Amino acid sequence: MNKELVALSLAFFSSSHAFNLISFDGKPTKWGNSRINYIVDSRGSPDFSNGCDSDGPCETERTAIQKAFASWANVPGVNLTFGENRPQAISSTGYDGQNSITFVSENWGGLSFRPPAGALAVTITTYRLSDSQIVDADMHFNNQYFTWGVVNTASEQKSSRVVDIQNVAAHEIGHFLGLGHSSENYAESDMSLYLATMFFASGPGETFRRTLRADDIAAIQHLYPSSYVVTPVVDSIYPDEIDARTTGSATITIDGNYFLDKTTVLVARKSSKGDVVAKIINRTEHSLEVELSTYGLGTGDYDIIVANSPSAQDRIDKALAVTSYYTDDEDTGEYGNLNSGNGGGCVANPNSPQSLAQFILMFGLPFILFFPGRLQGVILRVRTQRNNYKKYN
Ligand SMILES: [Zn+2]
Repeated sequence: MNKELVALSLAFFSSSHAFNLISFDGKPTKWGNSRINYIVDSRGSPDFSNGCDSDGPCETERTAIQKAFASWANVPGVNLTFGENRPQAISSTGYDGQNSITFVSENWGGLSFRPPAGALAVTITTYRLSDSQIVDADMHFNNQYFTWGVVNTASEQKSSRVVDIQNVAAHEIGHFLGLGHSSENYAESDMSLYLATMFFASGPGETFRRTLRADDIAAIQHLYPSSYVVTPVVDSIYPDEIDARTTGSATITIDGNYFLDKTTVLVARKSSKGDVVAKIINRTEHSLEVELSTYGLGTGDYDIIVANSPSAQDRIDKALAVTSYYTDDEDTGEYGNLNSGNGGGCVANPNSPQSLAQFILMFGLPFILFFPGRLQGVILRVRTQRNNYKKYN
């Protein structure tokens, strides 16, 4: 039985999900408009000539990217449309009001956000601290270390070289829209997370992640609902105190009402590191069992946010106390800066466009090499809070 069949049968036994959102202080990053425009660099990929890759029927880079956007826009119950601006040569990216898609064929490591050679592609989103609204997103395909194409022949599928644009674009568009990874575990045993488009790793010849899975669909329906969503109600949380020293993860039970398949639970850290998204491992309409990583939480009181959509959420302040004999106050200064609105790198001056306190999130989709019985690769998930975009050629 192949892995796809395993996933289909598992789906009948599991209603849990683990979709991750990029969020800050309980507010998921998302676009404010339902219509989002993007532009593809007119130079495209050097692996294409006259709109064709080197093998099989012709399909342009732009068409592959259009199909990837369509897979997100076509999810039922989602209010999103995408428009493509006429291609032109793109010489710089960053917070410039233009959502650019480029194939970087030289000086990949010299990009301002310093992606490693092994990252297939990187999407940078810029969002406002005040309301987590995404104001710019740019997608960069690594064309220095990888060969790009439209995988539509058997030889391309078996290739250890050709990476499918639509497959990777579908993943990067998830980041573009505010999603994180379904899992960052190479040995992920939950096939619904492993096969999801938002799984953190991919490789040459792969095309099955062109198609969104239930976990991806729940995430996008949560972020961009097309109709009214009922607001959850939280009655109690147990335990309300965990010891960060005892384990790398904690399981918490939340009782209340109106918990849905697309419900998400956030632990608001109130730091530049963003929130912790708890994985829902069991759900009924009245109860959620969630698992969260305590790594890096630090001691303190955290708010718990249970949400059916960004606009339908119940927030319990200081619901979770994390204790430890060891103090961890690394977040304190950042939080102070953010709240006071002066000093430091994360400050917003609402009157200046440059100062929309950008938090630049960088997600690399790591290259994963498949060997018989063995996996290896590089995890990349880097965040920086600077606004130092540079031009590249
Ligand atoms: Zn990714």
